Amino acid sequence: MDYDCQTCGACCVDYFGTEGYIQLTSAEVERMRRLALPVVRWQGQLLLGTRRHDGLGGETCCVAFVGEVGRPCACAIHPDRPSACRAFEVGSEGCRFAREAAGLPL
Ligand code: SF4
Ligand code: SF4
Repeated sequence: MDYDCQTCGACCVDYFGTEGYIQLTSAEVERMRRLALPVVRWQGQLLLGTRRHDGLGGETCCVAFVGEVGRPCACAIHPDRPSACRAFEVGSEGCRFAREAAGLPL
């Protein structure tokens, strides 16, 4: 797949519209707190917080997402992003699910 993440951003939207999105390790919790980003506890997990999102794909998005889904966008903490984001692969099933949920072409 040859998707351009910098004009997509669909996987940074929380499809379920909740208060926390990306699961964090203990070290990442400390890193996010140093970056002054909210960390949310949910069912024993620690998650990077979300914010209100009025664009495509869901009602909340990761608090570090900047720009618009389907238009120029970025991760504000790209060098420091959590391991879950680093492991997420362009063109994967999850990628295509997120794009489809946002109404972006597959
Ligand atoms: S959904 Fe896929 S193409 Fe879009 S930003 Fe995420 S990894 Fe990139
Ligand atoms: S940390 Fe960055 S890459 Fe990960 S979901 Fe948030 S904005 Fe997207």
